[in-house]
Amino acid sequence: MSVQYREVPKIYRMWVDGGHADSSSGETFDTINPYTGKAWASAPLANERDVDLAVSAARRALDGPWGSLSPSARGALLRKLADSIAEHAEELARIETMDNGKVIRETLAQMNSLAATYHYFAGAADKIEGSTHQPPGTNFFVYTRREPIGVVAAILPWNSPLYLLASKLAPALAAGCTFVAKPAEQTPISTLLFAELVHKAGFPAGVFNVVTGAGETGAALARHPGVAKITFTGSTATGTAVMKSAADHIADVTLELGGKSPNIVFEDADIAAAVNGVMAGIFAATGQTCIAGSRLLVQRSVKDRVVSLLRDRVASIKLGDPLEMATEVGPIAFGQQLDKVMSYIDLGLQEGAQLLCGGNRPSSVDLKDGFFVEPTILDGVNNQMRVAREEIFGPVLSVITFDTEQEAVEIANDTSYGLAAGIWTKDVQRAHRVAHQVSAGSVWVNTYRVLSYNVPYGGFKSSGIGRENGMEGLSAYLQTKAVWLELTGQTRDPFKLG
Ligand code: ADP
Repeated sequence: MSVQYREVPKIYRMWVDGGHADSSSGETFDTINPYTGKAWASAPLANERDVDLAVSAARRALDGPWGSLSPSARGALLRKLADSIAEHAEELARIETMDNGKVIRETLAQMNSLAATYHYFAGAADKIEGSTHQPPGTNFFVYTRREPIGVVAAILPWNSPLYLLASKLAPALAAGCTFVAKPAEQTPISTLLFAELVHKAGFPAGVFNVVTGAGETGAALARHPGVAKITFTGSTATGTAVMKSAADHIADVTLELGGKSPNIVFEDADIAAAVNGVMAGIFAATGQTCIAGSRLLVQRSVKDRVVSLLRDRVASIKLGDPLEMATEVGPIAFGQQLDKVMSYIDLGLQEGAQLLCGGNRPSSVDLKDGFFVEPTILDGVNNQMRVAREEIFGPVLSVITFDTEQEAVEIANDTSYGLAAGIWTKDVQRAHRVAHQVSAGSVWVNTYRVLSYNVPYGGFKSSGIGRENGMEGLSAYLQTKAVWLELTGQTRDPFKLG
C-alpha cells in the first residue's frame, strides 16, 4: 500500500480479478478532502462493461478455486486478513479521514474493530451446519446443506466505508460467496487499498473485486443478472431503487437505510449521563450516521435542565482538523451535503423552531476551507415538522417535549423510520416496557450508539430489510438446500405426490 498525504491528486485503480484495473472508458473522478476542500485522489469511473468484468470474475472464482476451498481454509484466510487489517489500521483510518472528514479518533476506533469482525466470521466459517429431517413415512432421510448464495454485490455509503463493508464482506466470505464492492464516489480510496490486503492475504483472484463510480455504476451492479444478492447501505430512496432492480432478476437484498431516531430522556434519568448520550447520538461523526439520535424527546419537567447542560457542552465542542486526535467534530463530508444540512436548518426556523445554538458556518480562519457547520440545536420542534420527519444527516438536533410515557412512545413511533432509539431512565420496568414498545431495530437503554460485530443490526419499517452482524448476518449469505434420500428401494406410485 502506498498513500500520499499531500494535496496532489493521486491516481488509484480498481481491483478486478486479482489485479489493478482502469475503467474501459478511461474516465476517472476526483475525491475531495472535506477539510481542505481540495481533490486529493482520483479513481476510475466504472461503466456497465467494467461491472460485467468484475461480476464475471467473481463468478469464475466461485465456480473455481474459491468454491472448492474447505470452510476451514476460508476461515484461515479470513484470519490472515484480520491480522493484516490490524497492522494497517492507522493507515486506513487516515485515508478515510481524508476522504470523508470523519475525526481520526472515530476512524481509528472503527479500523481497530475491523480485525475483530473478520476474526469472528473466520471462526464461523467452519460452523455452518445443516440439519436432518424425518418427513412423514419411514422411507426417507432428508438433510439440509447451507450453501453460499452466490456472487454478492455491495453498494456502500460514504460515512464509514470499511466499517460497513466488514459487516457484509466478512460473513459473505465465511459463507463461501464471492464479492463485488462499489464504494461511494466520495470515499473510494480505502476500499481500493483494502483490496490489496485481501489479495496479499492469499484470497484467490476474483473473490473480492472493487469497482468505483457513482450512482450509475451502482445501478449497473444492482441490475446485473449474475448478482445473486445485493447488500446495500445508504438512503431509503436509493435503497428503493436497488430493491426494484433486484426484483427484475430475483436477487436477494439486505438493505440498511435511513433513520430519524428518537433519544428519549425521562425525568427519572441520570441527567448528566443522558446529556452525554444525546451528544454522542447527534454530534459524534458530525451527525452523519444513520443511527443518529436526531430527535431528542425530553420530558417537560427536566427539559430546561437537559437543554441547558447540552448547550454548555456544545459550546465547548472542538471543531477542527479531523486528522488531529483532539478534534471532536470534523467537517461535513462534501459540499452538497453541507448545502443540504444548511437548508434544513433554515427550514426548521421557517417551520417555527427556535435556534438554541449553532445554525451557522463557523467563522474561524482555520476552518474556512472545510465544509464545517456548527453543532446546532433546534428547540420547540413538533414531530410534524419536516426537520423532525426527514433525515438531515448532519449535526442538527431537534428538541421535542413530552409529558407522559405514552406520549413519548407515540412520538417515537410516529415516523416512517425504525432504525434505533435511546431510552434514558433509572426505572427498570419503564426501561423494558418502552424498549418493547418502540419500533426500532436497535434500542439502547442508558447508552447510545454502540454496535458490535456479534449483535444483529438492522431496521424496522423504512429503515431496512434484513439484519447484519451476528449469526443472523451470516445467514444472509447462505441458502438452504434439502437433499432427499430414498432408503427402501421400493417402487412408489408415480402419479401421486410423495
Ligand atoms: P447517500 O448515502 O449520500 O444518501 P445514496 O444512498 O444515494 O446516498 O448512496 C449510497 C450508495 O449508493 C453510493 O455508493 C452511491 O453511489 C450508490 N447509488 C446512488 N444511486 C444509485 C442507484 N440508482 N443504484 C445503485 N446505487 C446507487
